[in-house]
Amino acid sequence: MARYTGPSCRLCRQEGTKLFLKGTRCATEKCAFSRRSYGPGQHGRGRRVKLSNYGVQLREKQKVKRLYGVFERQFRRYFSEASRAKGVTGTTLLQLLERRLDTVILRCGFALSMAQARQMVRYGHVQVNGHKVDVPNYQVKTGDAVKLTAADKFLKIIKENQEITKDRKIPAWLQVNAANLTAEVKAMPARDEVPFPIQEQLIVELFSK
Ligand code: SF4
Repeated sequence: MARYTGPSCRLCRQEGTKLFLKGTRCATEKCAFSRRSYGPGQHGRGRRVKLSNYGVQLREKQKVKRLYGVFERQFRRYFSEASRAKGVTGTTLLQLLERRLDTVILRCGFALSMAQARQMVRYGHVQVNGHKVDVPNYQVKTGDAVKLTAADKFLKIIKENQEITKDRKIPAWLQVNAANLTAEVKAMPARDEVPFPIQEQLIVELFSK
């Protein structure tokens, strides 16, 4: 699947919810979804078609993929891993998405958006247990120590991000030392620590057809 290179705000309007893809802008009145909360395009304002069950399930899957910025193939891999694991498939799926290294960087308040978090990882600014990890989908596990190691220019950006996100709730499964730019993974993420309204059961139903 080709990478989506269009406007991020269009995705929020398509999914009918804020996906917080653009950092600080999402919290301001410049947010395109706040100003135009109808679908994108010429007919976006038109009568909303009532979705079938399949349509509702499909939209939920698309929403979650976009929230975490993963492609279809990768998302299916996560689902397949979740369905093979013990426990509730939907919860395990969300855990796999939350445990991605780029998600951890975002949740710790080091980045303002998933795209920025991913860039930090890709550019080699993140270490896990003392080793550079530049793979955004790296799965953290309990006991892992995450550290940001950026040059001065990037450090300035990270500090600014921390200032902006200082009131954001950091999930209890991550223990962050903001001054040292480190975080420790204390546990696996709990279902109620996923900071978005997601109906994962719809995705399970979709893939179980
Ligand atoms: Fe979505 Fe953020 Fe754009 Fe608002 S500003 S539409 S939340 S990406």
